[in-house]
Amino acid sequence: MKDPLHLFKIGGAVLEAPDELEETLAFFSNLPGRKLLVHGGGRRASHLSRQLGIEPKIHEGRRITDAETLDVVVMVYAGLENKRVVGMLQALGCNAIGLSGADGNVVLAKKRPVKDIDYGFVGDVTAVNTRALAALLEAGMTPVLCAITHDGKGQLLNTNADTIAAELAIALAGQYQANLYYCFEKPGVMTDVNDADSVIPLLDPELYASYREQGVIAEGMIPKLDNAFRALKAGAASVQVGGRKALALGKATQLVWTTEFPE
Ligand code: ADP
Repeated sequence: MKDPLHLFKIGGAVLEAPDELEETLAFFSNLPGRKLLVHGGGRRASHLSRQLGIEPKIHEGRRITDAETLDVVVMVYAGLENKRVVGMLQALGCNAIGLSGADGNVVLAKKRPVKDIDYGFVGDVTAVNTRALAALLEAGMTPVLCAITHDGKGQLLNTNADTIAAELAIALAGQYQANLYYCFEKPGVMTDVNDADSVIPLLDPELYASYREQGVIAEGMIPKLDNAFRALKAGAASVQVGGRKALALGKATQLVWTTEFPE
């Protein structure tokens, strides 16, 4: 039997609401056994960018990371946000250790080739150093990863945090029973984003495709669920998407292969 591992990704809106962040980290730190956290931080990066006189460039919801923007996201994700989360977890008695993908070579990536749009210094994950992560986990530490990776040749890269969480779950599933949680500001994947009672309890690929086609599932939820289903397919023991309270009560959206059960 593999030991369970909880991989928890927190979204931008959670990171920015102080009370919500506090409550979410309290919930996370109480999860039993081995755990790991991944965080994003997009909105604060845009804020600092503007303060520095660099207008953020976004194309279809994705940040274009030119050289000066890369400096800003490294400062915000690997610096301020990562250390803030680590400090808060330490205050909760959770022995967190903050990492970018370059630290301990934990997440290696390759710069995305330029197609129609040049996204700049954006990295697609190529390898996860499971040995280094397992060593930290087995030493009783809780790795806290930001969304900065590296190419092994000295270039830092910006990588989507949802993707990092999925890649970590996939890589660590060989050794652990990997339970992946995408925690964001809504209770779950909903049929009406304005109705908290409309959470979809079980979501399978067929249902996902149909809601996506109808426009019920849209925007940032699409890459999130693409990553989430990829992790489920590649060995994650469980994948849930939802808010802190819903996750605690088992009322978030659970991803499954099929919602049709044989008679
Ligand atoms: P994160 O904060 O984790 O980075 P994103 O902002 O990328 O998350 O994606 C979450 C957003 O997806 C929600 O804030 C919500 O506005 C949007 N969304 C679109 N469709 C849905 C849906 N059906 N259910 C819940 N959220 C949805």
